[in-house]
This record gives sequence, C-alpha cells and structure tokens, in this order.
Amino acid sequence: MSKYLIDEIARTSNVVLEPLTQVVEAIGEDHLEALRLSGPNGEYQVPAGSLFVFIGAVPGTKWLPESILRDENGFVLAGPDLRAKGKLPESWKEQREPFLLETSVPGVFVAGDVRHGSVKRVASAVGEGSIAVQFAHQYLAGF
Ligand SMILES: Cc1cc2nc3c(=O)[nH]c(=O)nc-3n(C[C@H](O)[C@H](O)[C@H](O)COP(=O)(O)OP(=O)(O)OC[C@H]3O[C@@H](n4cnc5c(N)ncnc54)[C@H](O)[C@@H]3O)c2cc1C
Repeated sequence: MSKYLIDEIARTSNVVLEPLTQVVEAIGEDHLEALRLSGPNGEYQVPAGSLFVFIGAVPGTKWLPESILRDENGFVLAGPDLRAKGKLPESWKEQREPFLLETSVPGVFVAGDVRHGSVKRVASAVGEGSIAVQFAHQYLAGF
C-alpha cells in the first residue's frame, strides 16, 4: 500500500517474508497458537500469537458503470488524470476541463482512497471530501 512501508519491512532483519502465501487456518484453543499457511511449496504450520489482517487497500469499484473511468487497479480517474496521452476521453463532451475531483461523468465527483493517485491518509480523504462539495456547488451553479 505504501512503498516506504515495503522498504521498511525489507530492511528489518527480524521480519520474514512469505511471498505468494495465504493463511488458510488459524489454530488454537482459547487463543491463537499457530497459523497454517499455503505457499508455493505446499501447506505448513508456524507458531503465532497474533495475526494482523491488512485490508482496505483494494478499491471496491466494480459496481460502478463503465462510464466512470478507472485505472487498471480499479481506482477512479478524475480531473487531470482523465487525460490519456494528453487527451480527454471521447465521452467528455463539456467545453470546460473536468474539475480536479470530477470523474469522467460531469457532475460526479470522487474523494478519498478510491481516487487514482490519492494519498491514502485520513486527513487527505476528509479534505478531498470537503473540496468535492465545493466543486459540486460550482457544477450546480453552471461554472
Ligand atoms: C491497515 C490500514 C492502516 C491505515 N493507517 C492509517 C494511518 O495510520 N493514518 C492515516 O491517516 N491513514 C491510515 N490508513 C488510510 C485511511 O484508513 C484511509 O486513507 C481513509 O480511511 C480513507 O477514507 P475514505 O473515506 O476514502 O475510504 P474508507 O475509509 O475506506 O471509507 C469508504 C467507505 O465506503 C463504504 N463502501 C464501499 N463500497 C460501498 C458501496 N458500494 N456502497 C456504500 N458504501 C460503500 C466502505 O464500507 C467504507 O465504509 C490506513 C489504512 C489501512 C487499510
């Protein structure tokens, strides 16, 4: 999710990475004691006292109509990011540029983690939300 975290993990000698591996079972009586993992070389068990489930980095945007353009990872494109090779999408019929947080559908705005290129921090998401409201007002006022 963040490159600095990936780099930090790579630098930390007491962190063991198990690439291409899934947790398939949590084992224990009244608390977690071990994890069963499934990796490229089959299943195996490791002792574990805790498990951190890292969720929230994949955008859930498959339900959006195709008219709302997304990048290859599903993040919603907006503003200047709508330009591909310098050109706005053909579906963009407005005479003006899209507002900073405006999607490929005029008057539809995106804010927060789900936006392509967003900072992935709470403060940014909240700030973008309030800016999107201002753009909505501008849109409704006919700017
Ligand atoms: C493990 C982890 C650690 C993090 N640590 C930090 C940190 O220390 N500091 C920091 O600033 N940021 C941190 N972040 C990032 C921070 O959580 C996000 O930047 C922030 O929550 C983004 O807010 P958001 O409103 O854009 O999205 P979200 O908080 O993800 O909110 C989106 C909401 O929309 C809902 N939703 C999704 N699809 C639909 C739908 N179809 N209909 C209705 N509702 C829907 C979801 O259920 C969710 O409630 C962390 C993120 C993760 C995953």
